[in-house]
Amino acid sequence: MIIGVIAIQGNVEEHIEALERALNERGERDFTIRRIKRAGIVPECDAVVIPGGESTTLGRLMKIEGVDEEIRDATARGVPVMGTCAGLILLSKHGDRTAERTGQSLLGLMDTWVLRNAFGRQQESFETPLQIPALGNKPFHAVFIRAPAITRTGKNVETLAAFNEYTVAARQKNLLAIAFHPELTGDSRFHHYFLDTCRTEGSTVL
Ligand code: GLN
Repeated sequence: MIIGVIAIQGNVEEHIEALERALNERGERDFTIRRIKRAGIVPECDAVVIPGGESTTLGRLMKIEGVDEEIRDATARGVPVMGTCAGLILLSKHGDRTAERTGQSLLGLMDTWVLRNAFGRQQESFETPLQIPALGNKPFHAVFIRAPAITRTGKNVETLAAFNEYTVAARQKNLLAIAFHPELTGDSRFHHYFLDTCRTEGSTVL
């Protein structure tokens, strides 16, 4: 199994560590994690992770490198993609007013409406336990860092976690979007959930 992590910006190493931990916990021996900085790697990947960072920069660089088109193609082939924080913004079809004004380039894959920096300056970063039924009974310790939120979801989108009036984790077939940072806590349940989709949804086409 080859898992690619977009390595242009953001919490790349943390995601790699979390993936390695989850893969080891599953007893998976046959895997390679590749850092994606340019075109040509995504087509070889069985799963792709888009970490947090600054979505404008990340989106622009992915476009310049041609990685954006490769991710769209991979998604259409059923390859699972997980986007955290800025990754959630990029996965969305519908940006907020800032995104529209700046013409920010989104991958436009999930039927979600996003709001960048949804929790404002006061609470730019905070941590809170979240109840996420898909991960079991134990609350998930969620770390939000200048986090976006999903304000509206289309009918194919399943909300996995909510906070205040927002959806903060969602799934649409092989796509998983998380507003917080599951790679920053020792809890690998979200990475396991993602790896589970690699098995069961590997052949699902959007
Ligand atoms: N606020 C950032 C953005 O809008 C996302 C923050 C993050 O990924 N930690 O791109």
